[in-house]
Order: sequence, then structure tokens, then C-alpha cells
Amino acid sequence: MRLLVTGGSGFIGRNLLKQVDSSCEVFDFSRSKGHDLRNFKESYDTIREFAPDCIINLASNGGSLHYVSSFAANVIHDNVRMYVNLYEVARLLDKIPFIVNPISNCAYPGNTSIQKEDEWLNGPPHESVHPFANAKRTLYAISRCYAKQYGVKTTNLIFPNAFGVEDSTDPNHTHAMGGMIIRMLKAKRNGDHEFEVWGTGNPVREWIYSEDFAKYLLSSLAMPPLLEPVNIAQGRGYAIKESVEIIKELMGYEGNIVFNTKYKDGDPVKVLDATKFTSIWGDYGFTDHREAIQKTIRYYELCCL
Ligand code: GDP
Repeated sequence: MRLLVTGGSGFIGRNLLKQVDSSCEVFDFSRSKGHDLRNFKESYDTIREFAPDCIINLASNGGSLHYVSSFAANVIHDNVRMYVNLYEVARLLDKIPFIVNPISNCAYPGNTSIQKEDEWLNGPPHESVHPFANAKRTLYAISRCYAKQYGVKTTNLIFPNAFGVEDSTDPNHTHAMGGMIIRMLKAKRNGDHEFEVWGTGNPVREWIYSEDFAKYLLSSLAMPPLLEPVNIAQGRGYAIKESVEIIKELMGYEGNIVFNTKYKDGDPVKVLDATKFTSIWGDYGFTDHREAIQKTIRYYELCCL
């Protein structure tokens, strides 16, 4: 199989490339390798030459909710342009590749708690993430249009917030779990008596460990297309204040946790409904949550300290 991974040098891309087996020929189409999906001509020429059977579409311009709102225009511009270019390139190829898109669960309406697939467009995304969320909704719309007119086959999978090995070391580019681990390691190293959580600590998030994220993307290549999105779900959320306590315990940090409410909270609850997921993947499995946090702490100890 010839697999092209857009954004293969990013957080999830690096996890995915480690898991691809040697029977698969892989092309890492990422900016760090000199490729830019925002440039149609360059993308068309390069992708045509590689002639992929499948594309896992990890290219994105995103980050924490603070990053996404500060760079709102860049986020929507870059993402929508990359998605339109990808589908246009794909439909022009001699053999149209199968495309797998991860969609972040921030694309769900901001006022839902348990996120069910058949309700995912029933309201606007939370204001804190609307540039990224609307770009992902647009990606879904593009995939439907290209399926209808050109028969492009797509699988759309909705993922919760990710953390884990290979994530950015910049806490402004990671989700809360990675960000709190990086910042707490620094607080521990500096001997700080206080660790500040951004916001009230009340928002509830479901999490996926990066190695599991990659595993599920790869498993979908062997399945029939799932154009209508399916949650990659465990159906279990953790309040930020609960997560910070787990991190503190596993890291052995002894300072106090304080909540800085000058930072606005994001969406109150984001937990995915697992009904459809279970009917498709059964108990394919996830890394134990505490073990995943421990592995992530070790990763950041090695690359940040
Ligand atoms: P979201 O799921 O799109 O809202 O994005 P995040 O994972 O970035 O944030 C989840 C919640 O955690 C938000 O309410 C943040 O304000 C809060 N939070 C607390 N500490 C941190 C941190 O160190 N980094 C990030 N990114 N968020 C934090």
C-alpha cells in the first residue's frame, strides 16, 4: 500500500509513522519536509508523482483554545485552503485515493455534553474554538461534495483532545493535558510553591493518548469508508481539576494548585458517545489513562528539562 500522510511530521503524524509496518510505502507530506498543502500546484505535482492509494490527512494549523482565538483568521484560512486543495488534487489523480480525516470533537455544538454523532451539526461550536471547529466542519462538507460528484472515498473520525509522546513542547500549542504537564515540570524544577491552572478547572474533557490516536487512524484503512463521522470514544471525561491532581501525583510535585480565573474556560463538557464506536471496533482497546499520563511525563522530562 502507498500511504501519503499530510502533516506526517506533526504530533499525531510522528506517532503514526512509527506504527506503519514495512509493507507500506509512506510519503510524509509535511512542511518540515518542504511541502505545503496550501500551495495547489506544488501539492498536485508531488502527490501525483507518489500516486497514493490512501491519504491520512493530518495537516492542520491548530493548538490550544488561546492559540486558536488569537490567530483565528490564520487558522481558518490555512485549514480550509489545505482541505480544498487536498480534495481537488485527489479527484484529479488517475487513481483516486481513499482519504481518512481526523476531526476534533471541538467541532460539536458548544452546548452539548455527551457528543452523539447524529447531533454533531445541531448548533454552533463553542465560541472559544470556532475558527478550528468550523474548518473541520468545512472539511466534512468538502468530503461529502467530492464523494457525491467524483466518488472520492472518505472516512471521517471524530477524536477527543489528544496528548502524549511527540506533542509540542510549547504549552500554548498543546491541549490542556500536555500544557499542564510541561508547565508543572518547570514549576517542579524551579521549586515553585504554586502551580497555576488556567481557568476554574471545571471544564470536563475526554482524552486520547497519541499512540492510540495513531492506532485507530491506521486501523480505519482496512475498513470500508465511514463518510458519516464516527467518534473514537471511551465515553469518559475528566474535569481539568481532576487531571491536574493525577499529574501532580504521578509527577511527585508538592506545591499547591491554584486556579487563575482571569483565563476564560472553554466548552464546559466534551465527552464522546461511544455507542457507534463500540459497535464497530468492539474492545480494540485504549492505553490505561494513568499509564498514558506517566509516559507523557517521561517524554517531556526527556525533551523539556
Ligand atoms: P479545548 O478542549 O478546546 O477547550 O482546549 P484545551 O485542552 O486547550 O483546554 C481545555 C480547558 O483547560 C480550558 O478551559 C483551558 O482554559 C483549561 N486549561 C487549564 N490549564 C491549561 C493549560 O496549561 N493549557 C491549556 N491548553 N489549557 C488549560
